[in-house]
Amino acid sequence: MTPTKSLTATPPSIASLRQAIAGRATTATAVTEAALARIAEADPAIHAFLSVDATLARAQAAHVDQLAAAGAPLPPLAGVPFGIKDVLTLEGAPATAGSKILEGYHPPYTCTAVKKLADAGAVFLGKLNCDEFAMGSSNENSAYGPVHNPHDPGRVPGGSSGGSAAAVASGMVTATLGTDTGGSIRQPASFCGVVGVLPTYGRVSRYGLIAFASSLDRIGPFAANVRDAATVLGVIAGHDPMDATSSPLPVPDYTADLDKGVRGMKLGVPSEYFADGLDAEVRAAIESGIEKLRAAGAEIVPISLPHTRYAIPTYYVIATAEASSNLARFDGVRYGFRAPKSDTLAAMYRRTRDLGFGAEVKRRILLGTYVLSHGYYDAYYRKAQQVRRLLADDFLAAFRQVDAILTPTAPTPAFRLGEKSDDPVAMYLADIYTVTASLAGICGISVPCGQSRSGLPIGMQILGPHFGEAAVFRVAQAVETQR
Ligand code: GLN
Repeated sequence: MTPTKSLTATPPSIASLRQAIAGRATTATAVTEAALARIAEADPAIHAFLSVDATLARAQAAHVDQLAAAGAPLPPLAGVPFGIKDVLTLEGAPATAGSKILEGYHPPYTCTAVKKLADAGAVFLGKLNCDEFAMGSSNENSAYGPVHNPHDPGRVPGGSSGGSAAAVASGMVTATLGTDTGGSIRQPASFCGVVGVLPTYGRVSRYGLIAFASSLDRIGPFAANVRDAATVLGVIAGHDPMDATSSPLPVPDYTADLDKGVRGMKLGVPSEYFADGLDAEVRAAIESGIEKLRAAGAEIVPISLPHTRYAIPTYYVIATAEASSNLARFDGVRYGFRAPKSDTLAAMYRRTRDLGFGAEVKRRILLGTYVLSHGYYDAYYRKAQQVRRLLADDFLAAFRQVDAILTPTAPTPAFRLGEKSDDPVAMYLADIYTVTASLAGICGISVPCGQSRSGLPIGMQILGPHFGEAAVFRVAQAVETQR
């Protein structure tokens, strides 16, 4: 009997690749071939990739090898294997956003964050599976089939960036880009045992991201360790004239303070995140992680974020309202799929949207249209905006007291495929600890912090103030070192 190959593996780190390629111990081409071989071996069981472009990857690697052979300085991500969530555009490559309605669509432009990776020497292996239009917490809403968790293929990888998390956890690529609107980077990172970063709103340009909810959408990295994640964020962050909401603040070196430790830092622990509904094993893992930070010299401060309980309804009103508006553009005329054989233009719109969108996306368009409609706007949408302010004020008050906040990333470890797919409200409740930071615009990270008895990863969420990424990385590095 041949032993079954493990579905989990640690990919080579950015620093190790850099050293090996610059020192001519290996080539970007060899690294790329190894990534392609790992994808061929592991992805049939995981389904993280929606498309693989070996030709592009080999060309990018050959370019890096030419630089190395000429002794030229190597850019920061030279030869690093990457995967890109399929809501992010790369000129000429498919961009389905996990939806049938974008089947066959090849965008004529490249997302700024993706362009920055390419300019830094990254090698793109392909586009990654996700929930349709990034709506979901399990990757089961992808029109192309779910992603399986590498730690247990009977379980979900989390969502919506499930492919981005699973591709790193299975060692297919060193890093990936995902997007996070209400938790879609942090929660899959937690479920798959990798690092996932939610940058501050405005830190990374959204140009070229297929929009879900524009006031909440953010692009961020996944990696197997904190240093790699910090390196990637440093490359993709910064102002972009193509996104008016991107910040002109300078981008610091996020790796500079990583090893400074947490001595003297004040870390807040909000009681609302340790209440009913938190799985006992997750609680134990996070509490033990917090104790280790205390032992490492941090001051642990009990805090309160009193409006937390309103976060889920607030998020699901605002996100769906924005989605109903953003998704109006998919009409069968300009992009991708068009329903055949319609007698009138109106029938073509109707049939295209009926056949092109999946059930969850339709549910959200309906809900979002409802909360924006005359007569309900004040009761729902306006009210949600007011509560959003209160939630943000909770964090502003907390960050006057503490440098960062520690919570579980998700209330449970990865759940089983199918376990919540018939119950939208149960699925929405899986986002309870992540949507607050999304609404407040602050930054955060999920970093592995222990395992359940059955070996499922558990993530700690570390939240920081606006543009406080450096402090968040520093705490995350301490958690990673003490594991
Ligand atoms: N799970 C949340 C939702 O379904 C968050 C998704 C996301 O962050 N893109 O909306």
